[in-house]
Amino acid sequence: MSEIVGIDLGTTNSLVAKMIDGKPVVLRGPEGNPLVPSVISFPQKGPPLVGEEAKARSLSDPLNTLFSVKRLMGRTLSDLGGELGFIPQGITEHDAGEGRKVLCVDIQGKKRTPEELSALILKEIRHRAGNPTRAVITVPAHFDESQRQATRDAGKIAGLEVLRIINEPTAAALAYGLDRRRKGTIAVYDFGGGTFDCTILNLDDGVFRVLSTGGDTRLGGDDIDRALMRFLLARLGQNPHQTEALNDFDPHFLQSLRGLAEQAKIALSEAPDTVVEIPAYPIAPLGHRERITQPEFEELILPLVKRSLDRCRVALRDAQKTPQQIDEVALVGGSTRIPLVRRLVGEFFGRKPHTELNPDEAVALGAAIQADILAGNRRQTLLLDVLPLSLGIVTLGGAVSKLIHRNTTIPARATERFTTAVDNQTAVEITIVQGERELAKDCRDLGRFKLSGIPPMPSQMAQVDVTFLVNADGLLTVTACEKRSNQEARISIKPSHGLSDEEVERMVLESVDHAHEDFRARRLIELKAKGAILISHTRRTLDRTDLDIPSGERTQIESAVVLVLMASQTDDITSPEPGDRLNDAINHLSEVTLALATRVMDETALKVLASRKPDQVTTGLIS
Ligand code: ADP
Ligand code: MG
Repeated sequence: MSEIVGIDLGTTNSLVAKMIDGKPVVLRGPEGNPLVPSVISFPQKGPPLVGEEAKARSLSDPLNTLFSVKRLMGRTLSDLGGELGFIPQGITEHDAGEGRKVLCVDIQGKKRTPEELSALILKEIRHRAGNPTRAVITVPAHFDESQRQATRDAGKIAGLEVLRIINEPTAAALAYGLDRRRKGTIAVYDFGGGTFDCTILNLDDGVFRVLSTGGDTRLGGDDIDRALMRFLLARLGQNPHQTEALNDFDPHFLQSLRGLAEQAKIALSEAPDTVVEIPAYPIAPLGHRERITQPEFEELILPLVKRSLDRCRVALRDAQKTPQQIDEVALVGGSTRIPLVRRLVGEFFGRKPHTELNPDEAVALGAAIQADILAGNRRQTLLLDVLPLSLGIVTLGGAVSKLIHRNTTIPARATERFTTAVDNQTAVEITIVQGERELAKDCRDLGRFKLSGIPPMPSQMAQVDVTFLVNADGLLTVTACEKRSNQEARISIKPSHGLSDEEVERMVLESVDHAHEDFRARRLIELKAKGAILISHTRRTLDRTDLDIPSGERTQIESAVVLVLMASQTDDITSPEPGDRLNDAINHLSEVTLALATRVMDETALKVLASRKPDQVTTGLIS
């Protein structure tokens, strides 16, 4: 089995770790640095540069150098609102179909999605790790499903199968070995380069659960650098009090000042004072030497650290915990190397935080441990705060319609609308399955229940809303409700029970092996169901005596029906392009019935005929 690596895809820095001799180890680049700056630069010629090389170009080629792509992942322009200031490049939004929108960053006239850009970072990481094909990737606990999906997609683009997306704080807690205590409440304080996150985790029997997250996506080490830059400018006799004022300076000068500020900050994490040598620039023609002491630095950054503690207060309140109820505090993120941060966090929670690990490596180390668990190398099965396998229901013909996808963090909820396949169907049977395959026969059957009492009506008129709710303990409740009659039925199931991680792994691998064949089988089943329904509606309409259908139109429709029937009998999974002929025949039938459908549109029972895609409003049909 190929090895699985753990990746921390950070806003500022990314890292990769893997197990070596039973221990998680962060992999280093040729210069020995474990961090890959999450920076991409596009030179006029040659391939894009990633990491240190790209960061070095931020000065000489700022417009073609990109930072903080993570902030764009899975977002839309309206999500970002006024937050776009951090990116100098043009950003546009495109319609990806099905109501989905994707952002694009415009660099050198080429538009690239955040997923493609993150994939460049992931490729660099892969290269560093010797090109593994499978990975666990971490995301902030507050990432929603679309941000997680974007991360998965980035992995796929980079040639990685993303076996699991896990929360950064959970990974950090694993790295610190906090799962060994089995039970307790853990606070993870993550102060990185551009963002701050405080997460309160509950650990129960080895299962981590996110109780709450608080944070500030505009608070990080960058703000500390800026505070220091202002301090230095003030010492140069400048008065950069407003935020905007920083931008009034020569960008080259600012960039080198930023570098000096970061160096000074890092030096002050170890030493009581440091000297900054500002090179000669028009505003300081002779250059300038400035000594900064730790107390001066601490005074400067105190408001920023206090802001982070305010966010911790919010997280605690949301988790309904007091600082005394926190059993362990773990420090994560490069900025927690600052002694003042360590001190104040300790005082705030009233206990000494864990600092045994390098704070910027903890997340990647935890991801590697999670990867090791997935590889089946650790005997104790540790459940994490995600759903191990997808959950769905069986639709007509034995296809699976997934409602909640694997790796979704729990608790999770999803609702989709289904309809009936047969006229006057007064009951539907809902069969719940778990697994990655497209056909019900290849998934695990979790149970079934019946929703009855549906008033008789033509097929496809009933609106059955099926809701999946997985609570924090992994208990699944499925509810089906027919909207017109308000009939409701439900069932509760424990989904992941008894499923070992090895089993999960096997199912995931299988689904990859069979992905192509499954997809074709599923498409064929769906097309056959679609064809059958269309034929039944068409026939019913043709049989009506009150409609005056010209004989030419009638003949055309009848022969289109025959084509669908023939295609659905002869198209099977062994044909070279299964379903293609059937699909064409269905489209043809929809076209030739369109005029007729439009004429009878006002009659509710026939409305469905007008829709050229019968499955547009509903996900599928249930028998
Ligand atoms: P992210 O998770 O946001 O990608 P990191 O956890 O790697 O980022 O944190 C990066 C930040 O940590 C940067 O602002 C960097 O300057 C800061 N940092 C790194 N080392 C130190 C240090 N020794 N003292 C203070 N800040 C540091
Ligand atoms: Mg981080």
